[in-house]
Amino acid sequence: MSGNIRTGSSWKIPRCRLVMLTLLASALTGASMGRTAEPSVPAGTQMCWSKDDLTFKPGEERIQTDNQRAFVFPPNRKPLASTPLSHNRRRVIRRVNLPPGKKVVALTFDLCEQPHEITGYQGNTVDFLRTHKIKATFFAGGKWMLSHRERSHQLMSDPLFEIGNHTWEHRNLRILSGSTLVKEIERAQTAYEFLRETLAGRQCFAPNGNVAHDNSDSYLSLFRFPFGACNDRSLEAVGEMGLRAIQWDVSSGDPWPGLKTEDMVRDVLARTKPGSIILFHANGRGWNTPSALPTIVRVLEARGYTFAKVSELLELGEPVYSSTCYDSRIGDTDRYDKLAKELELFYGDARRKAMLPGVEGVPIPIPARRPTVPSDGKELDKN
Ligand SMILES: [Zn+2]
Repeated sequence: MSGNIRTGSSWKIPRCRLVMLTLLASALTGASMGRTAEPSVPAGTQMCWSKDDLTFKPGEERIQTDNQRAFVFPPNRKPLASTPLSHNRRRVIRRVNLPPGKKVVALTFDLCEQPHEITGYQGNTVDFLRTHKIKATFFAGGKWMLSHRERSHQLMSDPLFEIGNHTWEHRNLRILSGSTLVKEIERAQTAYEFLRETLAGRQCFAPNGNVAHDNSDSYLSLFRFPFGACNDRSLEAVGEMGLRAIQWDVSSGDPWPGLKTEDMVRDVLARTKPGSIILFHANGRGWNTPSALPTIVRVLEARGYTFAKVSELLELGEPVYSSTCYDSRIGDTDRYDKLAKELELFYGDARRKAMLPGVEGVPIPIPARRPTVPSDGKELDKN
C-alpha cells in the first residue's frame, strides 16, 4: 500500500477504461446525477460496503508523523473545467443571513493533512452524524483523500455529506504565489476527481440505492483556506478556479487539546445563530469533538435548528462576505505567516530526505527544530 502511494502506480489506470466503467455503471442502473434515489439495490449488483465496513475502527483517528508514507504524489492530471467566480464573489463567506424564523446551521469538519504526516479519520464523529441523519460538509485535503481512499469513497457516497477543497497539503496560501499557489489548490480538485473515477469503476451501490459515485458532485465547488488565512492573491486564485471560499463564524476550538468538552459545548452554543457555519475537525485533531458534538446537536435541535450542507445553506439566504480571512478578529490569522515560512523550510527538509534513494522503509529523519503546528481556528501562542 505504501508502495502504491509512493510510486503513484495507481494513477496508471487508463482513463478511457474508467470512463467506460462509469458509463456502464450508470447504464446498468439508469442512475444519473440528481435523480431521486430508490431505496433498494437492483438484483445482481452489490453494495460497496457493509455496515461494519462503514463503522469507525478505533485507532483510525491516530495521527502518524515521521512516516515516509506521508509523502504522496499528486495525480498527474488537469482538473475539470469550472467557471471562474465573478469578481465581487472572490471573498470569503463567514455565514449566511437567513429569512426571519429560519433556523438552519452548517456543521463543517476539516480533514487537514500536512506534507510530513498522515492524519486520522474520526469515524466516531462520522458514525454519529450518520446515525442521527445529520448533514455535514467535510473540507478535505487532497493528500488526506489519497491517504484515506476508502474513507473518502464512503464520504463521497453518502448523500448526507458533501466534500470541499482544503488544498493539497495544507500549506498557508498567504505565502505562496504563482504556479505553487495554483497547484496547491488544483491538486485537491484532481485528487477528488481521480477518486470519484475509481469509485465509479467499482460499480457498487450506496445504501440509498444509487450507484455510489452518483451521490457525489463531479467536481468540488467549495473551498476552505488552511489556517483560516488568505490574502488578495489567494482569494483571486481560488475564485479563478470557480471555488467559493467558505470560512466560519463559529470556531469550536477543537484542535486545542486543552479545551474541555463542556467549555466547547458552552462556547459553540453561545455563539451559534441562524445561518452559522461551525468549524470542527475530524482528522484526529478534533480532540473532544466526539464527546461535545452529541450535546451540541441535541441542544440546537431543541432550540429548533436543523442542519444543512454548506452548499444548501448558501441557497437559503444571503451569504455574509468578508474581503479578508480571520478567525474571530480581523487580522488574527495573518500572524501565521512567520510560522508558515518556518514550516515551508521544515517541509522542504523532510521532503528532500524522504525522496533520497535508499530510504524506502526508513522513517524520515525529522529536523530537531520542528515547529509547533496549529490547525484552523486554533489560537496560537503569542511567541
Ligand atoms: Zn485545516
